[in-house]
Amino acid sequence: MQFNPEKCRIPDEIGKPFIDPEEIWDFINQTESTPDRVREIIAKSLNKNRLTMEETAVLINTTDPVLVEEIKEGARTLKRNVYGNRIVLFAPLYVGNYCVNNCKYCGFRSSNHEQVRTTLTDEEFVRNIEALEDDGQKRLILVYGESPKYSPEFIAHTTKLAYSVHKGNGSIRRVNINAAPLDVEGFRIVKEAGIGTYQIFQETYHPEAYSWYHPANTIKGNYEWRLTSMDRAQQAGIDDNGLGILFGLYDWRFEVLAMIRHTNHLEACFNVGPHTISFPRIKDASGLNIDTKYFVDDDTFEKIIAIFRLAVPYTGMILTARETSEFRAKAIQYGISQIDGGTNLQIGDYKYHHEETEKNSDKQEDQNLHREQFKIGDDRSLGEIIDELLDNNFIPSFCTACYRLGRTGEHFMEFSVPGFIKRYCTPNAILTLSEYLVDYATPEVAAKGWKVIENNMVNVDEKFRDELLKRIERIKAGERDLYF
Ligand code: SAM
Ligand code: SF4
Repeated sequence: MQFNPEKCRIPDEIGKPFIDPEEIWDFINQTESTPDRVREIIAKSLNKNRLTMEETAVLINTTDPVLVEEIKEGARTLKRNVYGNRIVLFAPLYVGNYCVNNCKYCGFRSSNHEQVRTTLTDEEFVRNIEALEDDGQKRLILVYGESPKYSPEFIAHTTKLAYSVHKGNGSIRRVNINAAPLDVEGFRIVKEAGIGTYQIFQETYHPEAYSWYHPANTIKGNYEWRLTSMDRAQQAGIDDNGLGILFGLYDWRFEVLAMIRHTNHLEACFNVGPHTISFPRIKDASGLNIDTKYFVDDDTFEKIIAIFRLAVPYTGMILTARETSEFRAKAIQYGISQIDGGTNLQIGDYKYHHEETEKNSDKQEDQNLHREQFKIGDDRSLGEIIDELLDNNFIPSFCTACYRLGRTGEHFMEFSVPGFIKRYCTPNAILTLSEYLVDYATPEVAAKGWKVIENNMVNVDEKFRDELLKRIERIKAGERDLYF
């Protein structure tokens, strides 16, 4: 993908980054929220249009509880109408926690001498992947600290290793990455290894706040290097980008609008916006001691999620096990489309817990924050999460079809190509759920799952229902990895 300098403001050309704090604050301070305007904007989004900075600022400035409820209702309708009942599931796997940076909010920061440092050996890595496959996982995000140990070659090596592991009917079909920004050559190396999405969270878009949390004498202290990561990733051919803000570092109103600006930048420069947006909120971490002034409460966080759903209707939205099961269940309604399940942040622990569970011991012990990045809010197993999704008629999905068939920008297609979801997404979600039910579910969960599949057949294009039913039978007879 080439830069399009005509439409695209890049730092080198204008001498300042595409995030201009003054511009963002002007939008927030000079935009008024009126009932008519809010309703007009919700209607625009429901017609599948991206919102502008000004329109997003109107939603941000909406405080009237009745209108906030309408924003959330709008997001709920958009989610239901456009994306249907699917929830994509994945698992994070921490590969190593050595880190040269000193981010004030993170348990892995270099000055935290209580953190026990480790990197999975190949053998440990494989055993953990096997344990994840035994749970039924198909999609992973590999997570790394920033260290010379985690070079592009190392990230590429672990990616390929993950794809190579097959235990029983298990396989990892998509490996996403959350790691420090690379240069263009580095991004090329990981792209060639077959990564899915490359996630980098800006943490905070506000330059001064950024400098406060990320000391200047560290690599991560360079705001622009991080801000322009996705530009380099695109130049290297990675067009699946995952953006994120760590909510709680700075004023959420600024952060939301700045990410819309980042999205506009990527669309203008590369014709493709973020593949996913993540919503991490600060959680307790080993030795964490930061001001809580900007922490975001649950009600505001729900509003933020709803605003993003309306403002960037085509993007996948991720909410991890940082949040509690109750909060995740709510957020799924307003727009979250991907969650992790069975999450365990202690490095190498999937294998350990798997072996313990086989010996019938209790599941998760309390987290040991000196061995992990932060505290999680939802420690349910993948099976428990699937059980709850099925109770609510959601289709848990492990689908990776588009990415493997080269249909990149799939979220955009889901949203913009008429019939795409009925033709591809729902049938593929059903096929991956069928595999899960046959291979990994308890008899009770399997019974529920087949019922949910039956209920959701009306959401499959009529022309494909017969073929889908045939493929489900083929899965029951032992075939795997079937998709449309
Ligand atoms: N080291 C790489 C980096 O910083 O880009 C990889 C990411 S780090 C292991 C994953 C993400 O965890 C960070 O980008 C940050 O947003 C988030 N994080 C760090 N500390 C956190 C905390 N205390 N609570 C919640 N999320 C946190
Ligand atoms: Fe290191 Fe990333 Fe944690 Fe910062 S957020 S200390 S870079 S692991």
